Amino acid sequence: MAGSDDSFDIVIVGGGPVGLSFAASLGQSELKVAVVEQQPLERLADPAFDGREIALTHASIRILRELGAWDAIPASHKSPLQGARVLNGSSPFALCFDSPRGSGEPLGFLVPNCRIRDVLFKIIRLQDHAQLICGHSVVDAATSHKGAVITLSDGRRLTARLLVAADSRLSATRDLLGIGADINRLGKAMLICRVRHERAHHQIAVEWFDHRQTIAMLPLMEGVSSLLLTLHLNEADRLLALDDDLFLRELTNRCRGRLGEMTLASNRHSYPLVTTWAHKFWAPSAALIGDAAIGMHPVTAHGFNISLSGQKQLAHRILTAYRDRRDIADPDMLHGYESCLRRSAAPLYNATNLLVGLYSGEHLAARLARHAGLRFVQYLPFVRHGISAMLRR
Ligand SMILES: Cc1cc2nc3c(=O)[nH]c(=O)nc-3n(C[C@H](O)[C@H](O)[C@H](O)COP(=O)(O)OP(=O)(O)OC[C@H]3O[C@@H](n4cnc5c(N)ncnc54)[C@H](O)[C@@H]3O)c2cc1C
Repeated sequence: MAGSDDSFDIVIVGGGPVGLSFAASLGQSELKVAVVEQQPLERLADPAFDGREIALTHASIRILRELGAWDAIPASHKSPLQGARVLNGSSPFALCFDSPRGSGEPLGFLVPNCRIRDVLFKIIRLQDHAQLICGHSVVDAATSHKGAVITLSDGRRLTARLLVAADSRLSATRDLLGIGADINRLGKAMLICRVRHERAHHQIAVEWFDHRQTIAMLPLMEGVSSLLLTLHLNEADRLLALDDDLFLRELTNRCRGRLGEMTLASNRHSYPLVTTWAHKFWAPSAALIGDAAIGMHPVTAHGFNISLSGQKQLAHRILTAYRDRRDIADPDMLHGYESCLRRSAAPLYNATNLLVGLYSGEHLAARLARHAGLRFVQYLPFVRHGISAMLRR
């Protein structure tokens, strides 16, 4: 379809895990695709550890396997998740989510975000259809029913039948397309690091809603966990500025000995918490995917999982249109993508926000409601099993 060097069928803005998976999903066609990424090529080719350990559901693993990515991730980077415990304050009660009795099948796997990016990048490099344009950001985008014109920071202009924004939750491309979003800055940050520890984690994750902090402990290889502390922004900044010894001492106090003696096993990373929901997931000759469409709170570990299935939906519709010689930016097709993603993501997005509201309240009523909520779910096995089944889907 596309002609000159700067004309493409599809231009994807953002070479994050979702932009790259989308480009890989289009690999079985002859569509001419460009991925524009603001980071330099070397950084994309060798992504640095960013603290994120992505909890992948079985559905996501199936998609990554279809793309050739799952089997390319070394086994040493895949940590099985055999169960999860939710704790409230100093109460000894734990809400438990486990694999079905005797199945031995994990709820999912934890994989570092940088490893997912790494394998997807290598897949794209091996494919002929996609061109990577790195080290330049998109500074302007104009779309009409006929197509899109995209201007890069070096002044180069690309044309495309379809522009796909995958440039994160504060997407500049979404703004350029005139699509609004509900953006909620939560005034908190998630501070993350890996620790080596004395006590065994038995591959069980812990989410502990404590007074003025939430701590998640994600089990990685034997004797190593990822710790995620949700704190007020200024408190996270203070911890980030401490030297290693003081930081470790404070971390140990905050964990109240749950993991035994600890040592730091990585550098620290901090993510200000912002949730987003775009008002529309498409415009004439344009679509949004990944966090640019829906930026979930990480507490339920589903942002990438939802985005991976969303990009697959869009790619499937585009590939079908292309095979049938129909327009790959057909408005009805894009509208269908939006409806499907809205239906599948809205319940989890709203439930996650509700959970965040309930679990970040510090007043007595909120703490009691949390306690009652956990016991309520524990004694309703069908709800617990339903959540476990959703994770394994
Ligand atoms: C602490 C934390 C833990 C998480 N844990 C989980 C989990 O366990 N499970 C899960 O499913 N999800 C999890 N998530 C969510 C997941 O990380 C995101 O949903 C996912 O990274 C979104 O990918 P993306 O490609 O849409 O965006 P990003 O990863 O943000 O990538 C966007 C890319 O676009 C590039 N870019 C930005 N602007 C421009 C521009 N103007 N021009 C060109 N390039 C541009 C950026 O450089 C970047 O490479 C977590 C998130 C956080 C913060």
